[in-house]
Amino acid sequence: MRAIRLATVWLSGCSGCHMSLLNIHQELLEILAHCELVYSPLMDSKEYPQGVDIALVEGAVGNEDNLEMALIIRQRTGIVISLGDCAVNGNVSALRNPGGLAEALERSYGETVWRPGLTRLEARVLPVHQVIRVDAFIPGCPPDPALIRQTIAQHLQRS
Ligand code: SF4
Repeated sequence: MRAIRLATVWLSGCSGCHMSLLNIHQELLEILAHCELVYSPLMDSKEYPQGVDIALVEGAVGNEDNLEMALIIRQRTGIVISLGDCAVNGNVSALRNPGGLAEALERSYGETVWRPGLTRLEARVLPVHQVIRVDAFIPGCPPDPALIRQTIAQHLQRS
């Protein structure tokens, strides 16, 4: 059986979901024995590859880089799994939505220090499935490691 090409992605999130993924501990190693990790912030990847079988996506879509990345993921991935509440429903990342983008920019940059080269924020933070089709959801903040393991295992069997 060929190795499953697995990717993990970090959009607008806090990395807590990736920490939860690591908390699978021994079972993560067992899962990875069937997988080839082809893209992940855990391995400092540069470019999202073609032909990914399963992608775990942490974080919401909050800026233009996230939006571009989400579209690339959908185009190049068989099964996209939203990992954690920010990806599933916006969660903490979407707290800026009620005040709108102007208030968020003022709080973030006007009241602090502006740094050129920062990515431009989208008007609203969106959960991943409002931008691209998502095949499965793992809610939680952070998500339960057992649920992550169970979901990956289910999709490994189907791939
Ligand atoms: Fe962090 Fe929670 Fe969002 Fe995951 S769901 S990225 S743990 S805030």
